[in-house]
Amino acid sequence: MGERKNNKHKGFKFPFGGPPFPNPKPFGGWKFSIIYILILVVGMSLFNYVFMKRVNPTIDFSEFKAKIASGEIKRVELTDSYFTGYTSLKGELPPGPPIRNPYTATPEPVYRTVPLNDPDLIKLMDEKQVAYYAVSREGSAILNIIFSWVLPIAFFFLIWRFLMKRLGNMGGNVLSVGQNRAVIVAEGDIVTRFSDVAGVDEAKEELVEVVDFLKNPKKYTDIGGKIPKGVLLVGPPGTGKTLLARAVAGEAGVAFFRMSGADFVEMFVGVGAARVRDLFKQARDKAPCIIFIDELDAIGKSRLNNIAGGNDEREQTLNQLLVEMDGFDATSGLIILAATNRPDVLDPALLRPGRFDRQVLVDRPDFKGREAILRIHSKAVRLSPQVDLDAIARLTSGFVGADLANIVNEAALLAVRGGRTQVIQKDFEEAIEKTVAGLQKKNRIISPDERRIVAFHETGHALMAAFTPGSDPVQKISIVPRGFGALGYTLQMPVEDRYLMTEEELLGKIDVLLGGRAAEELIFGKISTGAANDLTKATDIARRMITDYGMSSRFKNVALTQRGAGMLGGSQAEPLLHREYSEATQQYIDEEIAHILEKQYTRVKEQLSQNKALLNTVAAILLEKESLDEKAFKAIIAP
Ligand code: ADP
Ligand code: MG
Ligand code: ZN
Repeated sequence: MGERKNNKHKGFKFPFGGPPFPNPKPFGGWKFSIIYILILVVGMSLFNYVFMKRVNPTIDFSEFKAKIASGEIKRVELTDSYFTGYTSLKGELPPGPPIRNPYTATPEPVYRTVPLNDPDLIKLMDEKQVAYYAVSREGSAILNIIFSWVLPIAFFFLIWRFLMKRLGNMGGNVLSVGQNRAVIVAEGDIVTRFSDVAGVDEAKEELVEVVDFLKNPKKYTDIGGKIPKGVLLVGPPGTGKTLLARAVAGEAGVAFFRMSGADFVEMFVGVGAARVRDLFKQARDKAPCIIFIDELDAIGKSRLNNIAGGNDEREQTLNQLLVEMDGFDATSGLIILAATNRPDVLDPALLRPGRFDRQVLVDRPDFKGREAILRIHSKAVRLSPQVDLDAIARLTSGFVGADLANIVNEAALLAVRGGRTQVIQKDFEEAIEKTVAGLQKKNRIISPDERRIVAFHETGHALMAAFTPGSDPVQKISIVPRGFGALGYTLQMPVEDRYLMTEEELLGKIDVLLGGRAAEELIFGKISTGAANDLTKATDIARRMITDYGMSSRFKNVALTQRGAGMLGGSQAEPLLHREYSEATQQYIDEEIAHILEKQYTRVKEQLSQNKALLNTVAAILLEKESLDEKAFKAIIAP
């Protein structure tokens, strides 16, 4: 956010280029620099060994002397490191074809030996009239230094740079091991407010409570209530998770420690854990405050792609995080926010009570939300009065907040390029087109035809849920694409915990599941693959009705259990399932499943076709608004 004017917390690292954060205690830093020096020395010795040796093969001193005695060597250059024997005199070309020798620029055979303090050598050379002379070391000393120090260092520096680049994407900055990279933003510096975030109202509502915890902890602790320790923001990239976390800190007016999960994952075991420890220590000193761990999954995901003992490092870091989270007192005014777009890869231990026990879904915005986000971001942009943000929101189905912010910016740039002083509708349309092309590659944009199918499919589910007595009420219908593969969803909320279900209720569940496909077939006369997941669930219920609950006509009250099978909804599938019934029974089960599904599907289609008008109405509204909550849905179907 904006430049800091009144800098009362000197020494913190501020985002966007403030003074660097000096680490008072670079834990373990010196240990690692020793490792570096060791690597450097070993590497350079190797370099010298491999390259220098080959460059300077020498002959024995005695052989050298023999070559002088035989007259082959006519000239000798004496230096500290070598005696070099030339087969020609200075300025004279040797007989025969020129050859390239490894030591000097001269085209002649050259012999080299390591000097010995032998007074006979001079005598011998005098005798044979060999020209000998010494060469000052200065020139070669520089060459020597270049070869044995500068080049290897440059070489290793390049390798280093290369490695660092590769490590860069896993967040391992080798040079800064041991430094805590938490960005600390002091109280009063965060200008982000909830009003800067739009389109994620449910998430905002939940976080308002967190702000209240931070502002008036006494209110909760006096009554004996426990303040949540960890809140996990879950949602696709760019939906505003980081923004929300900042808004929480801004609203609560407390200090804010931000660190990315990737910052904890280092090449060296123990660094991540030390960072976690350090981060919590600093935060405890500053409480009340917020620790925000962005991209928490980096700690949970790193198992796969860390080169140096990543498993250990990841586990240590994670363990330390768990220890710290368990360690602090909930009344201390420390709240940990974390964000992830991969909740599926998180270690389950993180989600246990007392840790990130609150999860807040930050989803893609619907039509209304997109309009609100556009409004926020175009506040700073001069818009022509003819700009219709409503229409733009309509054109941007599937876009997240970051995309929309980007579009506003892009449109402003286009206006400037077009020499306009105001942004016009056409700029927006062009900006959208640009962005759509990118998003289409990521499968986040669905065609209008598909949208219609999804709308009717979801409406089918919702209407069947409304028609089926005892069915869980519809909480939300949405055709905003969500996550991988899910093009829309109908959310049903159980009114109470259920431990028992009647045959009728199970059939009702099947009806709701089949409602999607039935609606598709009814309206479009054809079916799509969109119902695959529904069918799996429906089939599963039907099978259990027959095998587990004894609800079939032939095997009434007989449990055709496969030994090892779990319970309804049980997610732990045991590896070995022993069928305890005959092949013929299996055939009956298969047929009976098909029979149940067939019967229910016919019923569902009939019911929907009797309510075709309603189906059309709801789907049309859904196509326009993209999502309907419980109230809106009830209002439509009330009559
Ligand atoms: P995430 O952390 O979920 O990937 P960010 O919070 O980093 O997303 O969002 C990036 C930018 O996109 C924000 O700085 C903001 O400008 C814009 N943005 C995203 N979501 C929203 C939203 N819901 N309301 C307003 N702006 C948003
Ligand atoms: Mg983020
Ligand atoms: Zn469905």
